Amino acid sequence: DPRLEAISRAIRVVPHFPKPGLSLSSGDRRRRPRFCFFFFFFFFLILCGCWFLGIMFQDITTLLLDHKAFKDTVEIFVDRYRDMDISVVAGVEARGFMFGPSIALAIGAKFVPLRKPRKLPGEVISEEYVLEYGVDCLQMHVGAVQPGERAIVIDDLVATGGTLSAAIKLLERAGAEVVECGCVIGLPETKGQCRLNGKPLYILVGPR
Ligand code: 5GP
Repeated sequence: DPRLEAISRAIRVVPHFPKPGLSLSSGDRRRRPRFCFFFFFFFFLILCGCWFLGIMFQDITTLLLDHKAFKDTVEIFVDRYRDMDISVVAGVEARGFMFGPSIALAIGAKFVPLRKPRKLPGEVISEEYVLEYGVDCLQMHVGAVQPGERAIVIDDLVATGGTLSAAIKLLERAGAEVVECGCVIGLPETKGQCRLNGKPLYILVGPR
């Protein structure tokens, strides 16, 4: 697809990002000192590893600034999912929210946000997962998805596959059938697909 090269070029690479700190609220820090210690120790080790290996952060905000590349990105997903009888597009916080709603509107599906803890006001189900930069958790509103619905999961990037794996588990616990996961960027060396329990993974471009 000739559009893919321009999409890839629109993604900016930021070396040695993210930087330490700012991940836990002050309330968490008071309540969970041991978790905090291990979290920062783990975080420090990962950062050292990232620096040593020269890991490059793939920044999709520059893709959003490029109207044509952004539109093409959404359209490629829409063309793929339009006729697959999808009724749920689940987007992973935060960067899955930048692509998922447009895809959902275009294919006539609902958009279900999969959010970080304490963001959703209603009753939720939760799934914890390990990602490149620490431990995290995704939550989904109870009742957002009905048993038997066909769903796709959208995120900006797959690395280890831990985030998508948690998203799949949430949707399946609600009784949905996860048809595929779609990401703009796939980091092939991390073999994210292995953690998706056999679910297809659709990736537009590799890392820059
Ligand atoms: P995984 O769980 O597959 O290891 O990591 C994927 C998650 O981490 C995605 O939600 C993605 O937004 C975030 N992530 C990890 N590395 C990067 C990166 O280099 N660029 C961007 N945009 N997101 C990343």
